[in-house]
Amino acid sequence: MFDEVIRGWDGEEVLVRFDEPTGTWMFIGVHSTVLGPAMGGTRMRTYPAPEDALRDALRLSQAMSMKQAAAGLPYGGGKAVLAVPAVSGPGSDERRAVIRHYAGLVEALHGTYVTAADMNTGPAEMDLIAERTPHVLGRSPANGGAGDPGEGTAIGVFHAIRAACRHAFGSDDLGARTVAVQGAGSVGARLIALLRDAGARVLAADIDPDRVTATGAEPIPADTAIATPCDVFAPCATGGVLNEATIPHLACRVVAGAANNQLATPRDAERLQEHGVVYAPDYVANAGGVIWLAGYETLGWDDAHMRARLAAIEQTLADVFAEAASAGITTADAADHLARSRIEAARKD
Ligand code: NAD
Repeated sequence: MFDEVIRGWDGEEVLVRFDEPTGTWMFIGVHSTVLGPAMGGTRMRTYPAPEDALRDALRLSQAMSMKQAAAGLPYGGGKAVLAVPAVSGPGSDERRAVIRHYAGLVEALHGTYVTAADMNTGPAEMDLIAERTPHVLGRSPANGGAGDPGEGTAIGVFHAIRAACRHAFGSDDLGARTVAVQGAGSVGARLIALLRDAGARVLAADIDPDRVTATGAEPIPADTAIATPCDVFAPCATGGVLNEATIPHLACRVVAGAANNQLATPRDAERLQEHGVVYAPDYVANAGGVIWLAGYETLGWDDAHMRARLAAIEQTLADVFAEAASAGITTADAADHLARSRIEAARKD
């Protein structure tokens, strides 16, 4: 029943398990190990059908290969999806059972796949996984991990915004810019603080208005945030926000944010270009999270080296913008070329 989904996927390995006691379908997509172990988060959610969950795992694992390569990390791309019958509460017996059984699956791959947190999983789940396997990043600091990588992601997005402003306006002085942030959660709230410290005027929207209030940003309505006149729109909530219906309403010169899979379809990169928007490809802009986890937990970086590697997202994006301009392609395609060329170069070594 899964062959239709897997056919055409260009990854290396898929692990499928139905966990009878919890009624959970578990999928691990190992997309590429060319640059190193396949690293990517564990997503836990409900799906209409197991095929949809597998499709998500495969698509996301491919995106992780691109993200790791573009970030210059010694990791490949992978992703796990736990398609649960219902999302149980943090710390509940049901959730602990799902995570424990899944940890055995990660261990069975002997390090080909290294997991981390994603939707509905966090440091507490990573701590639990670490009881059965060493192939996990993002444990809580109390258990020796780097914890929530939101801080690294926010710093990386901040640098992405600087790079995109330099390209769009000829200056990275954020004191002259208005930024609209969509989503004031783990990443968005930290990003808002960084932008305000840099002197930017910051507008923000969240479906939970209290989250905006806590940041000190100027509140804007969540349902029209994307159409707010501003210099930079920073999607930090959910994926798919840039699509055929929304792009014509964008009233900004730059889109740079943390959300994964911001483009609903590949064609939306062209729509953004036609609309005169400089788009910082999502997986380049939001790579700070994996840089944070890999750098602190496995690569032994100190704070100074971490800061430098997060700031290097500016140079990566400058290269992407230059390649897009010289080759006459979208910034999304230019980022893909960069990532693929790094993987291909490693394959030839
Ligand atoms: P989060 O859940 O902490 O925050 C998301 C916020 O967005 C919440 O406050 C939520 O209320 C709000 N929100 C949801 N729908 C909204 C809408 N339609 N309009 C306005 N606000 C809305 O998540 P996060 O960790 O901050 O991640 C944000 C995005 O960045 C996600 O797409 C995530 O996949 C991506 N991302 C996160 C990291 C990380 O390190 N946390 C790394 C890479 C990518």
